[in-house]
Amino acid sequence: MSDNVKGYSREDEYFHRKDQELLAKLREKAEAQKAQLEAKNEKKDYWMRCPKCGSVLKEETYGEIVAVDRCPSKACGGIFFDGGELEILLKAKQSLLGRIFGH
Ligand SMILES: [Zn+2]
Repeated sequence: MSDNVKGYSREDEYFHRKDQELLAKLREKAEAQKAQLEAKNEKKDYWMRCPKCGSVLKEETYGEIVAVDRCPSKACGGIFFDGGELEILLKAKQSLLGRIFGH
């Protein structure tokens, strides 16, 4: 245990809550965008197809934070972000790093 490792202070908790609120907002926006896109395109041949190899993409969630569409083909393994998901990932990462290394 080093001196740098300590529990959340009240200030940390405040920022943590703010981050959570922002992430929830971003998540809501991404979900709405996704639902709209799905309604328009889910019956199309290209829906959820990998643009590189044509495999059917699988949706996966990482750390309950960000959802990606992953190509199941071992030779390809492409990962695709829906609109807004990359933003969520970057924000979550920033907030996490900020908490570890201090602002
Ligand atoms: Zn692929």
